[in-house]
Amino acid sequence: MAADTLVIERLNRTFTSPAGDVTALSNIALKVKKGELITLIGPSGCGKSTLLKIVAGLDSDYSGTVLLNDKPIEGPSIEKGFIFQEPRLFPWLTVEKNIAGNLSLKDSKVRARVDELIALVRLKGFEKSYPRELSGGMAQRVSIARALLRNPEVLLLDEPFGALDAFTRAHLQEVLLDIWQKNRTTMLFVTHDLDEAVFLAERVVIMNPRPGHIRTVLPIDLPFPRKRASQSFQELRRKVLSEFEKVEEPAVDRDHGAGI
Ligand code: ADP
Ligand code: MG
Repeated sequence: MAADTLVIERLNRTFTSPAGDVTALSNIALKVKKGELITLIGPSGCGKSTLLKIVAGLDSDYSGTVLLNDKPIEGPSIEKGFIFQEPRLFPWLTVEKNIAGNLSLKDSKVRARVDELIALVRLKGFEKSYPRELSGGMAQRVSIARALLRNPEVLLLDEPFGALDAFTRAHLQEVLLDIWQKNRTTMLFVTHDLDEAVFLAERVVIMNPRPGHIRTVLPIDLPFPRKRASQSFQELRRKVLSEFEKVEEPAVDRDHGAGI
């Protein structure tokens, strides 16, 4: 049995504001094995981004236990790669420099690693391009490569393909699975796309809002590569959908500006 890379127990996170308190996460428990690919799905405001930010070390105002390789999370670090919906590249840097970050490409080891990552995310020939010359899908592949540079223990992806068109999205899902199969990086992938959740995951975590909590965790026991048109895929998709449809939408949106 693989070791648990991530252990979350009794995790609570409440935001206080003059308008009232919002419990973004209530009693979350989740264990993620080394090399596992987990997708998190749930309606807007159920705490998906909050959970990812806590694991990333970007939010420490919680109660409960969050351990990465048996150690409490202490701020952001290279152990945790984070990928946002927008690529967040430096516009004045080339693709290869965006990936290398503060490491020098004159270092032969860095050069080799960056070249390896560029091949992995299928951007050969675009090393010297600038972000403005890239499509949205290409830019997101640069941010994936950048997050992988120092072999993070866990890759956290917050609706990374949410802004892309359906074809680009399907392509990037293939790219991500290819990366996962080659590197076996542990991944926590947030999406509100049911199809994406089932296509990528070994387990789908379904969350409910108000307060944000885990409703259920469904294993997706389908071999890779998966065929969306296959009966077994469609059956599992239906199963996730039926769980998902049980999720009650809040009648009144009490806290304005819930994260989308
Ligand atoms: P999701 O990513 O699932 O859409 P979020 O994690 O962004 O949900 O938000 C969960 C809940 O916490 C929402 O009700 C949201 O309004 C609230 N929330 C998130 N961040 C903050 C914040 N910085 N201050 C106050 N409330 C917040
Ligand atoms: Mg979010």
